[in-house]
Order: sequence, then structure tokens, then C-alpha cells
Amino acid sequence: MQVKENVSLKTYNTFGIDALARHFAAFRNVEELQSLIAENGMPALVLGGGSNLLLTKNIDGLVIKNDIKGIEPIQEDDNFYYIKAGAGENWHQFVMDCIHKNRAGVENLSLIPGNVGASPMQNIGAYGVEIKEVFHSLDAFHLQDKTVVTFSAADCSFGYRESIFKRKYKNQFVILNVSFRLDKKPVYHTSYGAITEELDKMGVKDLSIQSISQAIINIRSSKLPDPAVIGNAGSFFKNPEVPEALHQSLLGRFPGIVGYRLQNRNVKLSAGWLIEQCGWKGFRKGDAGCHAKQALVLVNYGNATGKEVYDLSEEIVQSVAKRFGVTLEREVNII
Ligand SMILES: Cc1cc2nc3c(=O)[nH]c(=O)nc-3n(C[C@H](O)[C@H](O)[C@H](O)COP(=O)(O)OP(=O)(O)OC[C@H]3O[C@@H](n4cnc5c(N)ncnc54)[C@H](O)[C@@H]3O)c2cc1C
Repeated sequence: MQVKENVSLKTYNTFGIDALARHFAAFRNVEELQSLIAENGMPALVLGGGSNLLLTKNIDGLVIKNDIKGIEPIQEDDNFYYIKAGAGENWHQFVMDCIHKNRAGVENLSLIPGNVGASPMQNIGAYGVEIKEVFHSLDAFHLQDKTVVTFSAADCSFGYRESIFKRKYKNQFVILNVSFRLDKKPVYHTSYGAITEELDKMGVKDLSIQSISQAIINIRSSKLPDPAVIGNAGSFFKNPEVPEALHQSLLGRFPGIVGYRLQNRNVKLSAGWLIEQCGWKGFRKGDAGCHAKQALVLVNYGNATGKEVYDLSEEIVQSVAKRFGVTLEREVNII
């Protein structure tokens, strides 16, 4: 295990921000992680696939990349497969492995960038499904106590793009592996977005997890900017949840406002719509911009600094607050 000095993180984050790590090392198991910390002290940043963070400065400390691999069945009963995956496994490849083996439940989460280890961090979700629905447990290394702790779903306090690891336990644990409970009898989720239309377009007659996954891959590829082509971290902001009363008053002033009612009677507004109404869609300042097709996605056209992207996000937050009285919260982790 080599600790390198002054490493550019440009290829380690999908925004393509050229920040430096004072020290950088990858680890493949918990023993390597332990000796890295024993010899170099606490990490300043734990990296997965770098697809949900914005580096606003050089990291004057140790950056560690989780490269723990392996996908293994751990248990099986009449209804479910229980599968453990190393935190360093690529998420989409894990999904493809499940689909190939007819393990259902993650097909709607196809093509989300990043690694397995970060998937519970923000309870990744797309097309009507969140990881909490298939989550079984995870093992995480406590950096202070140097112990491995197992978390059940209840322990993780999952919410919309939220978990205990983003709040109370922020920067305290390194997730080592995640176990999933996957269905033997698939339950299809096709009502969200354009899944049904895409399945029709594909000429699918009999639904399968394979066809749903392919439909989602098609939709995502046509809608979302590919980080390999243009730097981004997907949705930069969360969709804000507002009380029904505020939604009603906004509806009076902005009849086209996009939102949907939640079970708790609050309304989740489309952050993309709010941003677009403030005129940001397609905006560009230097190399930092707001994507021309997806207002929710901030982009780096090449050489933007993290600070420039952050400053743009701040301008967006302020203009949305001024116009609608709604405060946008960032989904991307600001480092
Ligand atoms: C084009 C695009 C589309 C996207 N679409 C979606 C989407 O549909 N739904 C969605 O939910 N997300 C989406 N995202 C966001 C992103 O893919 C997910 O949040 C993903 O889970 C991040 O994984 P990562 O490995 O890249 O995490 P990173 O960006 O490396 O890390 C994210 C955070 O988790 C921490 N972390 C990472 N690994 C560990 C670990 N093993 N232990 C402890 N802490 C860790 C990091 O320190 C950081 O704070 C999208 C991103 C892009 C670029």
C-alpha cells in the first residue's frame, strides 16, 4: 500500500475538479485501512467513485480511496437472496450482476454512478426506488474506536437523500461492505417518469428486471450529461419539501409550479423547475455552468474550480429564495 504525495484528484471526481491531495492511498481491506490510519493518522476524506462531491479546495491531509471488492451471497430463503458487496465495487456493475443472476430490486437504480459503499450514505434513489428498500445491513469501521460496527436499516435513519452517515455520524465511519436483500419474485416499479413509454418504445411485451433496467439505462443516457464528457455530480440540489399552505400560496402566484404531494401532506417541489424559472438553465460563467437540458445539474465545462461551481450554486440558492421563498439544500457533498 503506497501513500503518494501531492496527487491530483481530477480523475477521482466526476466534476473533474483539479484539487490536490497532500497524501493519497487506496486500501483493499480493513487491515490495510487500519494500518494506513495507524501510520498516517486520520483521513481528511474518504473517496468512493467521487460522483457526489465538490472539491472546493486542496486537501491538506490524507485522502483514502475505498477499493474493497467482492460480491458474495450470504444467505437465501424462500423469498430473498442476501448479497454482500464490497464498498469499492462499482454500483452499476453490482446492479448488472444482480440482473444477470435474476436478483430483483435494484433494476430501477441502474446506471447511477459511484460505488456500493456510498450508496447508503445518501440512500440513493431513482425512478421510484430507494436503496433503503433493498438494504439489509452494512459493516463500517469506526475511525476513533478502531472497531467494526454493523448497522441495520433502522440504525441508518434513512430519509430522502439522507442517512445517519451524513448527519450524526458524519466523517466518523468508513463503510466497508453493504448487504442487500433482493427479491426472488420481482415487484416491478414502472409508474415513475417515462419508464412505461420507454418500454413501449422498446416493444417490450413481458416485463422483466432486464427490460426495466434497459429502459432506465436508455432514459438516463438520453437525459443526463455523461461525466466522462462534461464534469458534473448529477442533481446538485435536493427537491425541497414545503408545507401544503406554502404550496397553495405559491400555486396562486405560479400556476405552473411542479410538485407532488407526500404522505405527510407536505409537497415536494421540483428544484429543477424553480431554478429554471429563475433563468439559470444553460447559464455559464467561465467554465462553471448550469446544464442546458437539466437545470438541476451544475457542470464543469473543463477548468472550473470547485469554488467557482460552489459560488454559482450559492447565487442559484439566493435567487430561488428571493423569488419563491424556498431554500434549496445541496445534495452534493461540499468538501
Ligand atoms: C450523472 C450522475 C447521475 C446521478 N444520478 C443519481 C441518482 O439518480 N440518484 C442518486 O441518488 N444519486 C445520483 N448521483 C449521485 C451519486 O452517483 C451517488 O450519490 C453515489 O452514491 C455516490 O457514490 P460515490 O462512490 O461516487 O461517492 P463519493 O462521491 O466518492 O462520496 C460521496 C460521499 O460519501 C462519502 N463516502 C464515499 N464512500 C464512503 C465509504 N465507503 N465510507 C464512508 N464514506 C464514504 C464521501 O466522503 C462523500 O462524503 C448521480 C451522479 C452523477 C454524476
